[in-house]
Amino acid sequence: MTLPQRTPSHRPDFPVDAEETFRRLAGANPFRRREAFSLLRSLSPRRRLSLAEAARLLCTEDPMVWETASAMARAVREQVFGRRVVLFAPLYLSNDCANNCLYCGFRRENRDAIRITLSAQQAVAEARHLESRGFRRLLLVAGEHPGKTPVEYIAGVLRAIYRETGMRILHVNAAPMPVDAFRELKAAGAGVYQCFQETYHPETYARVHPSGAKANYAFRLTCMDRAIPAGFDDVGIGALLGLFDYRFEVLSVLRHAEHLYERFGTFPHTISVPRFKRAFGAPLSMAPLPVSDAEFERVVVVYRLSVPSAGVVVSTREPGTLRERCLDIGASQISAGSRTDPGGYGDGGRRRESEQFEVDDTRPVEEIVRAVLRHGYVPSLCTSCYRRHRTGDTFTEMALDGHIRDFCLPNALLTLAEYAVGNADPELRERCLAAVEDGRRDLAGSPLRPEFDRLLSRVLTGEKDLHF
Ligand code: SAM
Ligand code: SF4
Repeated sequence: MTLPQRTPSHRPDFPVDAEETFRRLAGANPFRRREAFSLLRSLSPRRRLSLAEAARLLCTEDPMVWETASAMARAVREQVFGRRVVLFAPLYLSNDCANNCLYCGFRRENRDAIRITLSAQQAVAEARHLESRGFRRLLLVAGEHPGKTPVEYIAGVLRAIYRETGMRILHVNAAPMPVDAFRELKAAGAGVYQCFQETYHPETYARVHPSGAKANYAFRLTCMDRAIPAGFDDVGIGALLGLFDYRFEVLSVLRHAEHLYERFGTFPHTISVPRFKRAFGAPLSMAPLPVSDAEFERVVVVYRLSVPSAGVVVSTREPGTLRERCLDIGASQISAGSRTDPGGYGDGGRRRESEQFEVDDTRPVEEIVRAVLRHGYVPSLCTSCYRRHRTGDTFTEMALDGHIRDFCLPNALLTLAEYAVGNADPELRERCLAAVEDGRRDLAGSPLRPEFDRLLSRVLTGEKDLHF
């Protein structure tokens, strides 16, 4: 295979060494069909794809091999999480940013952007809006601005939302920080800390991040090595697909995941699959190395087979049909009804000048719930693991042993029942309750079934937040 532009940087002290990734890809031979079949059929949560195998799979073009890999990804997903699909919404706090990422509408030099940093009370109003739509977990997202979005600001918003709404867990996607700042964020109750490397290719990274704190590749690459010791046992990683060769990026994400497992005993809690979208006011109007839908699906499959315990997250950047297909090939979390302009939920109307990028799947959450049900999955608003200390290495080991799914289905059903009870649309309510009844039958042999029945009857009479 040919890879664009080799990197001269060789930093074996980094969590991910770009040179090593190039060598691994350059030396990878495509699988022959029979060889691939026997490997793929041997995969399970405990027998995951190695880096070398992932590199070979990424170099294989045979559609039959990918069909089998997709089927295995679906099977592995079911062994780890069962039939549940986690739903969440992002809450954009601020589009003020001191960085200049060439692809992002929030960049400092976008003079046409209308800048908004929500006050804690405005953020609470947004969270209340999302709560009224059924969400119980949010991902708070902010630009990086020392004056407007320091950690004290984000921590203050977290506290206000926990104090004044029924949100149960708040995750954060924000710029890398020093250890003390991570501690402060954790102390305010943040769940998962999420940060995407964007590209693991140092030269491309330098080109698309020309100035601001984010120009520091190493500080970003090592952020989880600070976040985890500061108390974030659950972290989320990812690469922004389209900036560089996607196979290089995928292998780098996987190497990053291995690094976290080797050093901290925990795989990343989530791996996100963001793909480049054109953004208002961003000079990079096209992805330098676009990733097709078929390649995007391969990425989802490889992430699932390589890091079975991770939540693989597909956002509303992607069209609805592709997102639904991804559920069948390994994705386990999707955002719904998203707005990428701060204050956008309460406002209703679209404000292009404040958006980070244009979302593709604009369906409201109710439609997403229907779509997930149509595909035979259980929409889940569960937040139990974070609150019952099934996190970090405990979560990783339970997931790989197939024990997390024992909790996933009953918890997903309890949250779906709660969603149904609170839903004004009688048709949707009936559909959700029918799915709860179906799922209840699936719990027939489970030791949790008697307690599940007790909790379910309490939820159906209006009690909230009951979980295992
Ligand atoms: N400012 C922080 C940072 O850059 O890490 C956190 C928030 S940033 C708004 C969240 C993510 O959005 C980025 O990490 C990037 O991957 C993604 N993003 C930015 N511009 C994008 C675009 N044009 N298309 C798709 N994703 C984009
Ligand atoms: Fe700022 Fe993040 Fe956008 Fe870069 S991606 S301009 S750091 S908000």
